[in-house]
Amino acid sequence: MSLLSSITGASCPRVATVLLVSMLSVISDAVLRSRDYRALPDSRSFTDIMKFLGAFTLVFLQLFALFYFIALLPGPLRAIALLFSVFLVIVQLSYWQTLSQFMTGTDLYLSVTVSGAHRIEAILSFFKPQVLVYALPYLLILSLLLFVPPVSDAGMTIALSILLLLYLFVSNYVLFRFVPERSFHLNPLTSFLRAIAQCAFESRQRYQGIRDSLPAFQVSQRPLDSVIYVIDESVRGSNLSLNGYPRATTPFLQSLETEGRLINLGICVAASSFTHISNAYLLSGHNEFPDTDFRTRKNPTIFDYAKTMGYETIYIDINRVYLASLKKAAGDGPVRSLDSWMNENSFEEQQIDLEVTKDSGVARVLSAILNKGGGYFIVVNKKGLHFQYCNNYPDDTASTIWTPVMKTLESIDPGPTGREKLVNSYDNGIRYQVDEFFRVFVSETTNQNYVILYTSDHGQTLAEHGQRYTHMKADPEIVDVPDFLVSSEQYARQGLLDDIEPGIRVSHLNNFATLLDLMEVPLALRVRSYEKSIFALTTGDNSDRCYMSGSLHGSGDYTLHSIPTPPGDGWGHSLPVGAVPGSSNEH
Ligand SMILES: [Zn+2]
Repeated sequence: MSLLSSITGASCPRVATVLLVSMLSVISDAVLRSRDYRALPDSRSFTDIMKFLGAFTLVFLQLFALFYFIALLPGPLRAIALLFSVFLVIVQLSYWQTLSQFMTGTDLYLSVTVSGAHRIEAILSFFKPQVLVYALPYLLILSLLLFVPPVSDAGMTIALSILLLLYLFVSNYVLFRFVPERSFHLNPLTSFLRAIAQCAFESRQRYQGIRDSLPAFQVSQRPLDSVIYVIDESVRGSNLSLNGYPRATTPFLQSLETEGRLINLGICVAASSFTHISNAYLLSGHNEFPDTDFRTRKNPTIFDYAKTMGYETIYIDINRVYLASLKKAAGDGPVRSLDSWMNENSFEEQQIDLEVTKDSGVARVLSAILNKGGGYFIVVNKKGLHFQYCNNYPDDTASTIWTPVMKTLESIDPGPTGREKLVNSYDNGIRYQVDEFFRVFVSETTNQNYVILYTSDHGQTLAEHGQRYTHMKADPEIVDVPDFLVSSEQYARQGLLDDIEPGIRVSHLNNFATLLDLMEVPLALRVRSYEKSIFALTTGDNSDRCYMSGSLHGSGDYTLHSIPTPPGDGWGHSLPVGAVPGSSNEH
């Protein structure tokens, strides 16, 4: 029996059933996600119509190939494949209900690289029981494949399977090269395959080599001061009373400002709405969007500069976002320019339970290091305020200042009552994870020659415009983050801080050179042209501040945006509980 007749002739009921299942799947997707289909660009140009038809045919044939492949599987395997497909449909529809999109390659990359706790939190925040009703039509349609008669010839089954899988591979490569990932989805299953392919093709292109090195430089002695870079998690700048938020979320920081020990740089624009992207930019000093040349993987890290300047370098990574990639690059050897690193396990060994102490446990460890002497450069990726917020502050009356709050496992409801609980929980979290962190650190640190540069990886939507998601999309409120400097009473280089020009607008990109200036890195040692430091910025530099979303290296779901000067649209102000977004505040 020839291959051709196997597809068309003898297996005609198979082809007909698979075709029917494919068409019903397309129709049910169009019905379930009708608003997405209505929002498709309404272009009448001949080229656009041809492009659309081309992509449609390619993806429809993918659907056919996938279902035909499933139909070739023997009975029990076929049932397992169908159950797994229904599971994927549920995951994809949950994602779509929350974020108005199916999973992209970037989302998939994150879901396999982030720590276990984050993954569980993400699943809990996305899953809603109603999605099971949405998945029911798929279950019924896919179960038709159970009735397709099997192919009797084993050799033919294998040949056909290889052909179908080859088509799925090649067609996904064509999509990867020519069709933007956000623009076209016909089905949750083919969309998932596409995300896997996108992720795989992207990671094959990624730079895996050694980072650029710094010129040789001799320092005579270990520096006397210590420089600490605190990168918080999910802290929105405009929810700090330090930045004018009406609730007293950061009274301690305000008291430091009054004493002249805190210099507030106002609302900063984060590099991205994703944790791993912001961290990549913050620690490598790269300053162009996207990172097409893999500079975030090629540039020397901030640790390289600190080590060269004679500092003892420490990385405290409670969030497990960036250290992992540095560790991987180091293989079995030590991470370059890093004297020591700590993660949750190191805290456990010291019998500090971060589940109980949260970030105040981190503050105590930081104080203990500094109290031993000077000359430390420390980067801290704090635990911060990842959703669910109530897990990030102690469950006692002293820490639950604003009520009612959300319960653990409760998902985001953007209605007025739901939003009140969401914001109350978040504000309690800010008070504990941000204000209390600094109170503990400052009061327990006896060493008085240090400076801290503080920011957050990205902010949160807080359902301000009805969003059910917290971050990972391009909404401008997600890149609203704090940026300030805290110095000790006898910080040796206080004069540098006092000369910062008032009224400058900062972005994440300004932080790298700021750290270099704080460590007195000579210009001859700086191997890249970094964005201006905060000490060099003037109000004359105030212009649009860019940020990116999606794929770090510019493929797939990559998008570029900017916050204009002046920001407008209420950007940089967080909507308090009970307030209704005015029409002028709508994005
Ligand atoms: Zn984050």
